Amino acid sequence: MTIRTRFAPSPTGYLHVGGARTALYCWLYAKNKQGKFILRIEDTDLERSTKEAKDAILESMAWLGLTYDEGPIYQTDRFARYDEVAKQLLEQGKAYRCYCSKERLEKLREDLTAAKQKPRYDGHCRNKTGDPSQPHVLRFKNPETGSVIFDDAVRGVVETKNDELDDLIIVRTDGAPTYNFSVVVDDSDMQIDIVIRGEDHIANTPRQINILQALGAKIPKYAHIPMILGDDGKRLSKRHGAVSVTQYRDDGYLPHALLNYLVRLGWSHGDQEIFSLQEMIDCFDLQHISKSPAAFNTEKLNWLNQHYMKTLPAAEVAEYLKWQLQQLGIDPTQGPALEAVVAAQCERVKTTKEMAERSKFFFTDTVDLDPEAAAKHLTVAVMPALALLARKFEALNDWRAPALHAIIVDVAAEFNLGMGKIAQPLRVAVTGNTMSPSIDLTLELIGKSRVLRRIQDIGTGGLEPERRRMG
Ligand code: GLU
Repeated sequence: MTIRTRFAPSPTGYLHVGGARTALYCWLYAKNKQGKFILRIEDTDLERSTKEAKDAILESMAWLGLTYDEGPIYQTDRFARYDEVAKQLLEQGKAYRCYCSKERLEKLREDLTAAKQKPRYDGHCRNKTGDPSQPHVLRFKNPETGSVIFDDAVRGVVETKNDELDDLIIVRTDGAPTYNFSVVVDDSDMQIDIVIRGEDHIANTPRQINILQALGAKIPKYAHIPMILGDDGKRLSKRHGAVSVTQYRDDGYLPHALLNYLVRLGWSHGDQEIFSLQEMIDCFDLQHISKSPAAFNTEKLNWLNQHYMKTLPAAEVAEYLKWQLQQLGIDPTQGPALEAVVAAQCERVKTTKEMAERSKFFFTDTVDLDPEAAAKHLTVAVMPALALLARKFEALNDWRAPALHAIIVDVAAEFNLGMGKIAQPLRVAVTGNTMSPSIDLTLELIGKSRVLRRIQDIGTGGLEPERRRMG
């Protein structure tokens, strides 16, 4: 039998890390069992669903590499089917029309709250016949006795007494299905074997099981995964900084790092921290999902991001660097091979965005000269040494780090300067700043003509203020 899982986001906001983790767990579970992973977009809330959010979900899934075998299936394309099932329940006497006014329901809620009881519908219209041409909703006839029991793969056995549940609305006055109803119809029609979702849905599960039972449908297995908390112990939200997947992409995180981070956020496999995709697929199981909420830890994510920048093939990381450079308006073809930049920078930065920002000078004709660094390092005293460097560089045919290094050592000796005293002014002259990979490699990657022009533009008589942008 082929196992079927689904991820069912509501497009009312971007795909956040909590949703991405749910998607990942569903995907891993399906892959681990050679099953099918289905993407269903729960867009029945027409007021709150937006096209931007739908696009962001699809974009985020694609960026993470969470490919689906079926879908995206949009619930708004399935209204006729929900209608059909609702009619069937009505005809079988398992649902009924409710004509209660807003005012009556409001009063009922107030009275129950005043009596310190949980607000619930009192079944007023359960056994009444009304005029179907009048405005009404459809309610599900929830069993009045007994209880619903399910064995959650994470939380264990959960039992809910039916008298704690009420007759929930399955179709609104405008004919739109409610969340609990459309989920049930879909999980049944799509033959979902296991529902993996956030713990915030656990209270819906007994209601959904009752409807599934009324439909004579198979009851899937459930796994409710604990929430993600921010580092202050509160539920993770926008207040904690980047929480949408696209924001992490824009900030320069690699999908591999985010996936590896998310898989460990609430699941473990011994004390292993680093997982290739294949390892995640092979090792993933529901037994080791943690029961307690996990706290988001940006430092750990940064650590993983750096790990993957260093260990993935440079050509792969180069694709992300290319994208980041393009975001900065830089043409990535106007400089050294991107793989070489990745190799030179990966130890020094936390994200590909930082890598791009710190590598601009490899790709542009002009560099931004940091005034502070220039004032400190491009002194009149160092100019003769820079001039000699320029002459020797000009004569050099083998433009590679070892030969460049030898020249710098020579010139430093000639002027009786330590390496740093000559490398740092040179670095400022050719990069505009004091931060770059080793100076010889930096020179090699910038290229001969740009290096010579930049030293020349500094002038060897000291820096004039109006020449702070150089070619
Ligand atoms: N659409 C629901 C949400 O985004 C998830 C429903 C489910 O997984 O059953 O929270």
